[in-house]
Amino acid sequence: MRESVVIVGGGIAGLSLALQAAADFDITILETEFQPGYHSTGRSAAVLHIPFENDVVHRLTLESVEFFQSPPRGFKGIADSMSILRIGRIADEPKIEHFFETWKERCSWLVPLSQNQLLARCPILTNDFTNGVIDRRSLHLDVHHLLTCTRQAFRELGGRVETNFRVVSIESVRGSWILTSDSGSTVNADIIVNAAGAWVDEIAKLAGVQPLGVQAKRRTGIRCKPKVFSSSWPMCYLITDDLYFKPEGQSLMVSPCDATPSEPCDAQPERIDIAQAIARLEQTTTLSDVVPEECWAGLRVFVPDQSPVIGYDCNHPGFFWYGSFGGFGVQTAPGCSKLGARLLRHAPLTETSLTALELSPRRLTQSD
Ligand SMILES: Cc1cc2nc3c(=O)[nH]c(=O)nc-3n(C[C@H](O)[C@H](O)[C@H](O)COP(=O)(O)OP(=O)(O)OC[C@H]3O[C@@H](n4cnc5c(N)ncnc54)[C@H](O)[C@@H]3O)c2cc1C
Repeated sequence: MRESVVIVGGGIAGLSLALQAAADFDITILETEFQPGYHSTGRSAAVLHIPFENDVVHRLTLESVEFFQSPPRGFKGIADSMSILRIGRIADEPKIEHFFETWKERCSWLVPLSQNQLLARCPILTNDFTNGVIDRRSLHLDVHHLLTCTRQAFRELGGRVETNFRVVSIESVRGSWILTSDSGSTVNADIIVNAAGAWVDEIAKLAGVQPLGVQAKRRTGIRCKPKVFSSSWPMCYLITDDLYFKPEGQSLMVSPCDATPSEPCDAQPERIDIAQAIARLEQTTTLSDVVPEECWAGLRVFVPDQSPVIGYDCNHPGFFWYGSFGGFGVQTAPGCSKLGARLLRHAPLTETSLTALELSPRRLTQSD
């Protein structure tokens, strides 16, 4: 008989791991909300950026690109190509240079651009923006479609998704876990996968497992209509990390790149962050009187080294961590879930540059 696995959390993390592991385990996903993807996953900027965050995230992204570019049957249309411009004012020249020097070996397609070249690609930039780097290998992702396809494929393999199931208690009885919902339903499992996003430490505490000490950080997005043709522009990302904007059809998605520490919650946009998004957009471009049509916020979740945590807990053999996906959980989902499924069945990691220790919770407790 196959071992039973309960995955707590029906975001992109829980769903993609469930699909990858469905051939080896009998899997049930438990999700608090009425639909999967309600929290961080449904609030992302939906971008894949290869020179991003750190070396581990970069390599996990490389492991994922092919899935998005040549998706398996049933996943067509999950990604479109897109360029990203990292841009800076004259005073930011060292930062642009640093970005280019950091990534040019690993991303040979990055090209530095002059002011005229920046303006040719994004004509609304003000004259303050004098230098930049273009990355033509980024992708725009259709997260809703990705989630729907993943859930469908998982179900076709016999997997179960229980929504409206908020786990409120976890007991360990003779080597098996019993998870109870707020309405009193129970599910038993041999293994728990903790894919609860901002709530991973809460789930650990329920199970009597030492929490990792993750930090959730709120990030805001707004959508506006620029009233000028924008769909051919690249995404523009300030090298000072305080604004990005990205064309989406006739709209622009804009974020002030806020990273305000937050408790796990249903994050809501604050007026100050919306105002900052608008002010910075108007300082960066020739757009004025920008009116947001939609505003939202979501949580990005980190451990101190800003890489994911994937692996069995050091002290609780039936408790598997699958969290801390920061601002890269969608773009790394194919790679993380492939490696995660191997680690879940205690198989060695092969045909990858990543090691189990780079992903394991163990690395967070090692002093050297
Ligand atoms: C504004 C913003 C922009 C972003 N942009 C990008 C981007 O461009 N590219 C990218 O790759 N990533 C991006 N991210 C990050 C990405 O969204 C996250 O890394 C990813 O969604 C994390 O997925 P997850 O499944 O771990 O978390 P979640 O989607 O939050 O899923 C966790 C789930 O666990 C459930 N849960 C929690 N507690 C319980 C419980 N007790 N019982 C049952 N269920 C429970 C929750 O209801 C939730 O649905 C962005 C994030 C934000 C906020």
